[in-house]
Amino acid sequence: MKINNYFSPNFNKKKRLVNSIKIIVIHYTGMQSERESLLRLRNKRFKVSSHFVINRNGKIYRLVQDNKIAWHAGKSCWGKYKNLNKNSIGIELVNKGHRFGYTSFKRKQLLSLIKICKNLIKKYKIKRKDIVGHSDIAPLRKIDPGEKFPWKKLATKKIGIWHQHKSGFLKKNRKINIKNKDKLKFFKNLKKIGYCIPVNKKSIYVKIIKAFQRHYRIKLVNGIIDKECLLISENLIKNVKKTLDF
Ligand SMILES: [Zn+2]
Repeated sequence: MKINNYFSPNFNKKKRLVNSIKIIVIHYTGMQSERESLLRLRNKRFKVSSHFVINRNGKIYRLVQDNKIAWHAGKSCWGKYKNLNKNSIGIELVNKGHRFGYTSFKRKQLLSLIKICKNLIKKYKIKRKDIVGHSDIAPLRKIDPGEKFPWKKLATKKIGIWHQHKSGFLKKNRKINIKNKDKLKFFKNLKKIGYCIPVNKKSIYVKIIKAFQRHYRIKLVNGIIDKECLLISENLIKNVKKTLDF
C-alpha cells in the first residue's frame, strides 16, 4: 500500500498511547476540490486535519501520524468515549458532499479505504462496531460520509457492522408506526450499538434517528422510527452479540 506522506500542523503536540486508539471515523471532505481540501486540512488557520485523505483515484495521503491526535471529530460521542479525537483515527474521502454536489464514492477510493482499515484493525485491534461515520458520533452537527457511503459492502469485508437484509419483507414495515414502548426499545438498541442518546432531549432525537437511517436504512431517511428501523436495530444487536470481533 503506497502512502504519500504530507504534513498537517493540526494535531496535539503530545503523543498518545497506542492502546488509546479504539475507533475509526470516516468522513467526506465536502469541498469543491481535492486541492482545496488538502489545503484546508493542512492550514494552521482552520484547525482541522485527519490522519488520512483518500482521493477519487484511491491515492492515499497521510497528514498526521497515528500516534498523534488529529483534529477531525470535534464534539462527539460513541459508546463510553467522548470527544473522539483522542481515541480515533480519522479518514477523509474526497467528495464534494451535500453542499457542492454529492456523488458516489469511487471504486478505487473504496479499495484504498478497505486496505487502510484492514491495516488499522489489525494494528490496534479495532472492533467492527467501532468503525463509524462522522454523523454517527456527531448526529446533531454532521451528515458525512452520507447515504452514498456503502456500509453494506464494507461489512462484507468485516469493516463495520450490517444487518441481514430482507427488503421485500421489511419494505411494508416502513409504513407501520410503532408504539412508545417499541420506540424506547429502538433507542436502547441504538445505545447498545454505540450511539449516545441524551436523556430528556426529545428535540434532537430526530437527528439521531436520521443518523441511524443514513447509515443502516438509506432508502428512507425521515427521522421517524418505523417498524423497519426497529427490526434493523434488533438484527444489528443480534449480530453484535453473535460475533466476538464485533
Ligand atoms: Zn466529517
